[in-house]
Amino acid sequence: MADYDLAIIGGGLNGVSVARDAAGRGLRVILLEQGDLGAAASSATPRMIGGDLAALERRAFLRARAALAERDVWIRIAPHLVRPIGFVIPAHSDERPPWLLRLGLLLYDRLAPHGNLPGSVTVDVTHHPIGNALKRPFGTAFEYSNCMVDDSRLVIANALDAAERGADIRTGARCVRADRLDTWRLVVIDRGRRQVITARALANAAGAWIASVAETILRMPPPRTAVTQISQIVVRRLFDTDNVYVFQNSDRRLIFASPYQRDFTLIGTVAKPFKGDPAVVSAAADDVAYLCDAANRYFRERIDPSDVIRTVCGVNTVMGPVGTRPAGEGGMAFDAGRSKAPLLTIFGGEVTTSRRRAEWAVSRLTPFYPMSPRWTAGAPVPGGDFAWERFDAQVDLARERWRFLGEDHARRLVEAYGSRLPAVLGDAREKADLGPAFGPELTGVEVRYLMAREWARFPDDILWRRSKLGLTMLPAERDALAAFMATAR
Ligand SMILES: Cc1cc2nc3c(=O)[nH]c(=O)nc-3n(C[C@H](O)[C@H](O)[C@H](O)COP(=O)(O)OP(=O)(O)OC[C@H]3O[C@@H](n4cnc5c(N)ncnc54)[C@H](O)[C@@H]3O)c2cc1C
Repeated sequence: MADYDLAIIGGGLNGVSVARDAAGRGLRVILLEQGDLGAAASSATPRMIGGDLAALERRAFLRARAALAERDVWIRIAPHLVRPIGFVIPAHSDERPPWLLRLGLLLYDRLAPHGNLPGSVTVDVTHHPIGNALKRPFGTAFEYSNCMVDDSRLVIANALDAAERGADIRTGARCVRADRLDTWRLVVIDRGRRQVITARALANAAGAWIASVAETILRMPPPRTAVTQISQIVVRRLFDTDNVYVFQNSDRRLIFASPYQRDFTLIGTVAKPFKGDPAVVSAAADDVAYLCDAANRYFRERIDPSDVIRTVCGVNTVMGPVGTRPAGEGGMAFDAGRSKAPLLTIFGGEVTTSRRRAEWAVSRLTPFYPMSPRWTAGAPVPGGDFAWERFDAQVDLARERWRFLGEDHARRLVEAYGSRLPAVLGDAREKADLGPAFGPELTGVEVRYLMAREWARFPDDILWRRSKLGLTMLPAERDALAAFMATAR
């Protein structure tokens, strides 16, 4: 008998979503991630959940409607990670005419399921806080509802749920060879140790490595894919309202400026074809300048490349060749035959539809195993078992129980852990009970929790994926964290 029913190569959003779905249906699952969970494309996304206006422009109405329906699922099952937020498009005299934008948003409202979030409105920005950050000529803007998501924590939440349902999640475990017989026989280098495991089915969810995994590890023809790089920039906070600004650029691209970790603004995205090693991605100087110029067309406060605190880049696999498909479009293939162990290939796609894609993918295995029906749309991810309208109440509850927490600190912790916060802070009665501090918010108990429960091994796993506290951490604090983690192992 094989060790597992399903082995998954890749711990990005696609891999962990498949792991969660399959483990919850009763399959024995192992997920192999060569580095850290979500360390590649899945922590460099535009962080948006919901409707895509560009899809409306392409008349992809069904796709837009499916994404809006899925947005509602996310608000229900991950209310700590997915936050409803007003998106604002200032009307620019040189770009799409205001009547066209209004019409598009009315259609968007109609496609959205009724009830949860407010419909779109026209705003006179000369008399509205939304206009404070904008340059003077803007008189009108349109506001519509959408959601932001903490992408890398969504990866962790999926992995946690999969693990709690029995999946074996291995980080630092690279699959180096896979032989296809009537079962799969995989050779894995797991934290330096060679190991052979067998599985009845295999999922290749290796993101930008998907073709090289197919060719060199599975020794099969690679899927027809293309790889694109997405780049975004982080600058100091450029506006005070809790909105995402959507700018129309002169080349008709939509550029987003969103609130990022309280004190910063994330501006993106630029996508372009990518060649090279997906593990080494950096933003080109002209992309950084392009995003600064786009923001300067709209915001009063000017920025230039020297203001960029960090770039957020990733490479993503789309159905090839480049330019023929929308940036978020991914692919999926299923290959099985008599006496051939099944192979599932899954790549790219949007964060919004990742749950549904995984559900569809795992359902393809139904003829091979007895498994329970679809379940992920109705089950909260770990920490998400409260109604999204009660998010502020969750923060208040946290501050009542741990009275030493400041408002910002409590809010960050609830955003990260939701109702699981007691598992992180335990019975701490005063700040000193949280152990050593690494900067104003990160403490020893949180670090220990992340190492014990969320597969964190190195400082970057915590500073850039389990949180984004790396943005404000001083070098000495980072060194102290590294030393603490080395002894806590
Ligand atoms: C250019 C670009 C455009 C995007 N556009 C959109 C968009 O419009 N809307 C939207 O919602 N989202 C968008 N996304 C994000 C979307 O979330 C990604 O498609 C998704 O995160 C990809 O997830 P993944 O799991 O396939 O890949 P990844 O997150 O890259 O994960 C693959 C993992 O496989 C691992 N791996 C590779 N080889 C091996 C091996 N041999 N053994 C073990 N592990 C291995 C890697 O280490 C990696 O962690 C975009 C992302 C990018 C970068």
